Amino acid sequence: MSKIVAIVGRPNVGKSTFFNRLTESNHSIVDSVSGVTRDRIYGKSHWNGVDFSVIDTGGYNLKVDELFNEEINNQVNLAINESDLIIFLVDVKSGVTPQDEYFCDILRKTRKKVFLVVNKVDNNQMIKNSYDFYSLGLGDYFYISANNGFGTGDLLDELIKHFPDAIEEEENDKVVFSIAGRPNVGKSTFINTLIEDNRTIVTDIAGTTRDSIYINYKKFGYDFKLIDTAGLRKKNKVSEDLEFYSTLRTIKSIEKSDVVFLLIDAQNGVESQDLNILNIIINNNKGVVILINKWDLIDNKQEININLEKQKIVDKIQPFSDVTIMFISALKRQRVLKAIDEGLSVYKRKNNNISTSKLNDFILKLVSDYPPPIVRQNRPKIKYCTQIKNLDYPSFILFCNSPKNIKDPYKRFLENKIREHFNYTGVPIKLNFRQK
Ligand code: GDP
Ligand code: GDP
Repeated sequence: MSKIVAIVGRPNVGKSTFFNRLTESNHSIVDSVSGVTRDRIYGKSHWNGVDFSVIDTGGYNLKVDELFNEEINNQVNLAINESDLIIFLVDVKSGVTPQDEYFCDILRKTRKKVFLVVNKVDNNQMIKNSYDFYSLGLGDYFYISANNGFGTGDLLDELIKHFPDAIEEEENDKVVFSIAGRPNVGKSTFINTLIEDNRTIVTDIAGTTRDSIYINYKKFGYDFKLIDTAGLRKKNKVSEDLEFYSTLRTIKSIEKSDVVFLLIDAQNGVESQDLNILNIIINNNKGVVILINKWDLIDNKQEININLEKQKIVDKIQPFSDVTIMFISALKRQRVLKAIDEGLSVYKRKNNNISTSKLNDFILKLVSDYPPPIVRQNRPKIKYCTQIKNLDYPSFILFCNSPKNIKDPYKRFLENKIREHFNYTGVPIKLNFRQK
């Protein structure tokens, strides 16, 4: 289930300031996605135990005279399509402007929840200046100061109540796969190969937007859903939009999936954009399989040492390197089904619940054999651990006498041992250290 909030509004109302406020402590996940003029458009945030994603649509620095054009329309429509909730930001200092009204007209057409938020209300005295915005006809609004945080708590309290429920989500308990990767790595080809391979396939359009296309797939006992995002991208004319669009679609489809196949072009190897996508997958706690596609184009394969090739990739994707890497050809249909098979294994591993006793047997012996390093004459003690139930990814709580004295290298050591022992290849796991 995805929880995506888009911040929309005309330039200078404070979108990026607010975006930064929401995502700051969670350092934004996409840094300089190439082709998008703004450095950061996507970040994770949380409030009262609810994790959600934030999209800043301020990527286009349009001049005022360019405002009333198709581009703005596109931008807002993209944000509407791809998000679950919309924050429509306006500026108390300028009052209602024609551009605000223009945005408002577009937003009125959506059935998604829109929060009208008046920004730059830096203190109590300024609240009365915001009454103007009732004239937009969107009803009640929130007032905040993106700069100093005034009012943001009330807004977020309300916001997190409005994410679509799991119940409203697409029916069913099937595994959901998606395919991510840069343009031209072969995502459509991968999907076509699966479709052509399977005459009993059912293609259906779920949800209300024309964009969310799920393919129900059934073969050799496989039964899963594939999110097809690739085809639609090509319909877009504006080049800048295209990047923005494909980034949003990638994020959206990752958030909706259980396991993501990250396609990488064998001819180019791992590049920074691939790492960005991998980070989005990991930060959303999704399973991942790395597929090096177009392997058929690599010459002299008999001279290539596969293990060495894998190691090169592992070195680049550190620290998250416990992941299956496969060399495939979507076009020549090499190892495509094997990849699906591995995806299903990742899914099973991701949903594996470890009993508290098994977990403690392992961890307590491990920390007794290899205790955490002494800090200021005290050796931190880990006393007990348990897996958090009802999460769709493995997350563990380790109770200890002084959590802050357990340092990162030791945390990594524990994580690696847990991965190895309980087999979490391709699955992000979380260790939480708590005081006991
Ligand atoms: P964007 O174009 O909508 O992303 O707007 P920015 O976030 O770049 O902000 C535009 C200007 O408004 C900057 O100078 C910000 O410092 C200022 N600004 C943003 N939020 C606030 C606020 O809450 N109070 C005040 N006084 N200024 C703000
Ligand atoms: P997308 O943008 O990620 O959906 O990529 P496409 O599926 O449209 O593929 C881009 C180009 O790469 C097309 O010309 C494909 O035929 C080609 N391609 C995709 N997969 C393979 C592959 O495994 N081997 C080869 N040789 N070409 C491929």
